Amino acid sequence: MSSLEASKTPRVIRPGATIGILGGGQLGRMMALSGSNMGYRFVALDPAQDAPCGQVAGQIVAAYDDREAARELARRSDVITYEFENVDSGVAAMLMEESYVPQGSELLYTTQHRLREKRAIEAAGVKVAPYAEIGSEQELREAVIRLGLPSVLKTATGGYDGKGQWVLRSEADIAPAYAELSRAGVELVLEQFIRFDKELSVIAARSPLGEIRTFPVAENIHVDNILHLSIVPARISQQVEEQARELAVKIANGLNAVGLIAVEMFLTADGELYVNELAPRPHNSGHYTMEACRTSQFEQHVRAVCSLPLGDTSLMTPVVMVNVLGEHVAPVLERFAVADEAAARLGVVPKLHLYGKSEAKVKRKMGHINVLADDVDAALAWIDETNIWGA
Ligand code: AMP
Repeated sequence: MSSLEASKTPRVIRPGATIGILGGGQLGRMMALSGSNMGYRFVALDPAQDAPCGQVAGQIVAAYDDREAARELARRSDVITYEFENVDSGVAAMLMEESYVPQGSELLYTTQHRLREKRAIEAAGVKVAPYAEIGSEQELREAVIRLGLPSVLKTATGGYDGKGQWVLRSEADIAPAYAELSRAGVELVLEQFIRFDKELSVIAARSPLGEIRTFPVAENIHVDNILHLSIVPARISQQVEEQARELAVKIANGLNAVGLIAVEMFLTADGELYVNELAPRPHNSGHYTMEACRTSQFEQHVRAVCSLPLGDTSLMTPVVMVNVLGEHVAPVLERFAVADEAAARLGVVPKLHLYGKSEAKVKRKMGHINVLADDVDAALAWIDETNIWGA
């Protein structure tokens, strides 16, 4: 067997072993906190001193594309995973040679590029918004005629939280949008604008042995392209809930995923589901699972990459997750320092999670609150009443 095959052959990694994480942000931190409870040790590779994960685990401080540092991570770890998708392909290949990387690098390669991702989703038998590959302004003009206006021009790589995209509303937008986005020198993709009723996401976990489980559907509300709320249970029919979860299973199986895969989708008024994006890692829209599900997304990820049986994903309580951005930190801290009359009156239990980031920059994800409640309306009413996030 080649070392490459060996690096993917399923192995049971028992508690007590060390899990190496590429990336030391909040996703790594919550993974390490959860896995530490089970007795695993963690070491993260991240360029930032005192990274969120480094505060609760070992840390190698080095650039992500530093091969020597990656080699040290491999030496110190029994299994390696990652918490972001833009892993350097050279580092990924080297780790596959020298270590056990059950997730492999194919899924990373697929999800690093919107066009490859869309083709893979379609090959799994799932719909995406109609799209066109754009290589020139002329191709963009032709594609706009085919797909109609509005439509969304996106860079195929490197975009997140709405960066690297432009909604074309009239023909006058074509030239400036093309000029701006083509500057990065990466391929572009034009997508038909989907007039969605709701944005939903499903997180699926798949083990190297092919066991698969999905978490309940989250209904997501974005503000300025950044996730603001995840509402669970989503306010959708049982049928849509099942369809969305089935679709995530198809994608996880079709793409041979190992570990978590987050599937973001649009639901239209006539009940159609279109997949927008995938993330092969824990996802912000799955943070609600930390207190609301029998198994959290982080524990599930650890279980999957360690080839342990996957945990029960049942929802124990309705919940709304609200993100805490830089501008929300001060009022949130004030609120949590005193008895919360509104929470008591509404019967909700707000659970605060902060990621240990020192600089509370505007729009930076600093933490989140899982508001547990008897129904999601009570949780939403608490968020409204706090007056922290605006109306
Ligand atoms: P993305 O970076 O692809 O996740 O897009 C960020 C946000 O832009 C999404 O959450 C949607 O709210 C919106 N969006 C992106 N693509 C489309 C589309 N094809 N149709 C409608 N809205 C979109």
